[in-house]
Amino acid sequence: MSSKVIVTIFGASGDLAKRKLYPSLFRLYKSGNLSEHFAVIGTARRPWSKEYFESVVVESITDLADSPQQAQEFASHFYYQSHDVNDTEHYIALRDLQNSLDEKYQTEHNKVFFLSMAPQFFGTIAKHLKSEGIVDGQGFERLIVEKPFGTDLETASQLNKELEETFDEEQIFRIDHYLGKEMIQNIFAIRFGNLIFDNLWNRDFIDNIQITFAERLGVEERGGYYDHSGALRDMVQNHTLQLLSLLAMDKPATFTKDAIRAEKIKVFEQLHNPTDDELKKFFIRGQYRSGTIEGKKDISYRSEPNVYPESTTETYASGTFFVDSDRFRGVPFFFRTGKRLTQKGTMVNVVFKQTDSIFGHSLQPNVLTIYIQPNEGFSLSINGKEVGEKFSIAPISFDYETDATATGASPEPYEKLIFDVLNNDSTNYSHWHEVRASWQLIDRIEKLWAENGAPLYEYKSGSMGPTASDDLLAEYGAEWVWKPEPKN
Ligand code: NAD
Repeated sequence: MSSKVIVTIFGASGDLAKRKLYPSLFRLYKSGNLSEHFAVIGTARRPWSKEYFESVVVESITDLADSPQQAQEFASHFYYQSHDVNDTEHYIALRDLQNSLDEKYQTEHNKVFFLSMAPQFFGTIAKHLKSEGIVDGQGFERLIVEKPFGTDLETASQLNKELEETFDEEQIFRIDHYLGKEMIQNIFAIRFGNLIFDNLWNRDFIDNIQITFAERLGVEERGGYYDHSGALRDMVQNHTLQLLSLLAMDKPATFTKDAIRAEKIKVFEQLHNPTDDELKKFFIRGQYRSGTIEGKKDISYRSEPNVYPESTTETYASGTFFVDSDRFRGVPFFFRTGKRLTQKGTMVNVVFKQTDSIFGHSLQPNVLTIYIQPNEGFSLSINGKEVGEKFSIAPISFDYETDATATGASPEPYEKLIFDVLNNDSTNYSHWHEVRASWQLIDRIEKLWAENGAPLYEYKSGSMGPTASDDLLAEYGAEWVWKPEPKN
């Protein structure tokens, strides 16, 4: 089914639009999900012509197009309107352009607005979309907003209030691009499509769950932004907790957005609210110092461009969440995320409970690993007999890695997410209640750290972060399953 729609992108000259949005729209076009009845309005400050905008779009999709003609035909659907978000006149010009394109492409007044700009503009744009009659109640009207959704509960609530003056919750799609990744979608299949996991997915059989988002790179040119954000806001409030909710939720009654959302929201509302002592114990922050990775010397975070030389911003966050549900009460959900770590990798390790030994032979716990990026796949480790005359037991791993062809054919996260918006499917977007509950908890940690109520550990670039994180797991009789070798 192909959609009739006008997509308006605010921030059309930006990095995200060029790297992700135009290629994703092109993939949808190529697969027939967008056909002749669509147009894209790009708006940004620069005074671009339609011809120039088309050339930017063509350049961003050159590698994907079957022929230059195909790329040009796609780009001919793109229109540009230079725009300052604070200027009312510009919205009138946008409305006129939208109306004429609606007629030209017969899009039945269907509209998607993609806010790919700094979040401080979101409220102003949403307000003008209504006051200038761009959002007019005709056709479907959906709003996609980029992260970050606020920097704390107060700013997130304010932003949400502003958006809700123009759009209902059902029309607002808050992006968390990790949710568009193939292996995150696969969690549903693995959990609910296999009785061996479905039946064991609870506190009687799971010892702990580990979530790792490790990056090799430092802050690069984003130091100015990052120094005001930090790992907790940048990676934990959104991606880590969203992933946790998919791992911890109860089985939805049906595979529908409403049923899945209801279960996810339940998890967010059941997140354990730590006592003050627990707060100090459960969450760990770190900041990278210089180090050598593969012979290359990397500088300390505080020497990075646009970073305050005495910054206490964390480039590493780790800790444990608990979910106070019948399914998972008391099971630690350990997480760690950081920059300049040993190796890039996003993965989940589900560690099952195990008896220490059998017939006098020691046993390793069974671990289900879900590889999210850069590798996609999963593995399961079980205990088996070692080959030979003697009876001895050793862990054996069953590995499945999605092959390169399948990975190449699998949708880009933004492609999948835009496809979902066209189909009015908000399953893979964050609901306001989820965002609200996550900020409630994250704000408490931020406050503690801002008051220096917990140590800021240093860690060497190229390590896996401060050892305080290992110590936390050790308190629960656990250890990180993934221990990549340092490459000095
Ligand atoms: P960018 O700085 O490259 O682009 C910003 C865009 O906003 C430009 O098109 C600019 O012209 C426009 N703009 C700025 N001020 C304006 C004004 N007053 N009026 C009209 N237009 C104005 O930013 P980006 O990297 O494309 O990121 C966009 C959004 O996506 C941000 O919210 C960011 O946090 C989020 N995001 C980006 C990435 C990424 O990979 N780049 C990843 C995740 C999230």
